[in-house]
Amino acid sequence: DRRVVIVGAGMAGVQTAVALREQGWRGTISLLGEEPHPPYDRPPLSKAVLLGKAEGSAFEVDFASLAIDLELGVEATGLRAGEHVLETSRGPVPYDVLVVATGAQPVALPGSEGVPGVHVLRTMDDAERLRPLLAGQRDVVAVGAGWIGAEFATAAREAGCRVTVVEAADRPLAGALPAEVSGHMADWYASSGARLLTGAAVAAVEPGAVVLEDGTRLHTDAVVVGIGARPATRWLDGSGVVLAEDGSVVTDNRLRSSLPDVYAVGDCASFPSARYGERLLVHHWDNALQGPRTVAANIVHGPAEGEVYDPVPYFWSEQFGRFVQYAGHHSAADELLWRGDPDSAAWTVCWLRAGVLVALLAVGRPRDLAQGRKLIEKGALLDRAKAADASVPLKSA
Ligand code: FAD
Repeated sequence: DRRVVIVGAGMAGVQTAVALREQGWRGTISLLGEEPHPPYDRPPLSKAVLLGKAEGSAFEVDFASLAIDLELGVEATGLRAGEHVLETSRGPVPYDVLVVATGAQPVALPGSEGVPGVHVLRTMDDAERLRPLLAGQRDVVAVGAGWIGAEFATAAREAGCRVTVVEAADRPLAGALPAEVSGHMADWYASSGARLLTGAAVAAVEPGAVVLEDGTRLHTDAVVVGIGARPATRWLDGSGVVLAEDGSVVTDNRLRSSLPDVYAVGDCASFPSARYGERLLVHHWDNALQGPRTVAANIVHGPAEGEVYDPVPYFWSEQFGRFVQYAGHHSAADELLWRGDPDSAAWTVCWLRAGVLVALLAVGRPRDLAQGRKLIEKGALLDRAKAADASVPLKSA
């Protein structure tokens, strides 16, 4: 009886377990997770769960009927790969195949650790701590105008909180999008009644206040830090598993780590993308859905028949009443093409490389996203004039 042990019971871990059964794995499946809660979905945490519109977001998976041995409250602490043994807070666990799916952890704001009233938003427990602050319409300061900061600000405004977002860069989403695109998103904050302070570096966080480098003191009931996340892979230090500088497990195009019989998937893993010609570390939900299918296929069928992983990355964000979707990867693009007015309610921006669509961002235009994603997969050349006409379906461009 061969045994697959999956570490981390988030989206990627759960999907790996389910995909293994779907693809015919007959052996044992152990799914170990550190958190005490039944496995749950994270995107609702910054949306419905935060607003108390949903009690929880547990996955609707019947683990028992799939013969998946789910063990919660177990932390992986180390790996003795030579012996095929995982070390955990409950003792050693032998494996034949190990899947690392430990996700990511929020990056801490230096100097804010342990200060009362400072929060992050990653887990159900984080959301439950924040929910009463929103319900009580308290004053909140979010540090970081990234995806999490924008979604948190959206929910807090909807709840009626006074919201200030401080961002060290000159615009929101500076790490994710070029200035000519994300510059148009700055006004979204004000339109929702949130205050966005750009070029605002935090000098200190004190109980009840955030102090900026220019001396501004922002009084607040709570601080929510959203300045990025880092793969939760510290426990692999010294194990022989090769980690990249960004902390991700370095995998090959089948999501295999540098060690035999050890895979990694989801927010904790980076993979070489032939499609984009670089290694990608993707911190989005769709990657934690698609990657596990590749892992399961390789475990069940073996690498000779298993598939390689080379997705067109996809994600969405719901912010300030807008549905924002992105597909592809634009770092190597050489041209930007607009469909619609970026200061209007709905628009799309396309990134091309040598005339081929490589990425797009659609705001309130889900059809553009769906059609664009297919064009990216095909590597289609775009007719620029048609593509720039928002009234022409993108698939006809
Ligand atoms: P995780 O979901 O982080 O799961 C990893 C699990 O492993 C965790 O439960 C963790 O406790 C456990 N673990 C960690 N270390 C250990 C250990 N040593 N031993 C045992 N267990 C361990 N993406 C989108 O595309 N759209 C969205 O709108 C969106 N919204 C989001 C909102 C929020 C608030 C957050 C936090 C993320 C959001 N994401 C969104 C991103 C998406 O949720 C993640 O990409 C996805 O959850 C990654 O899944 P994962 O299983 O790789 O990691």
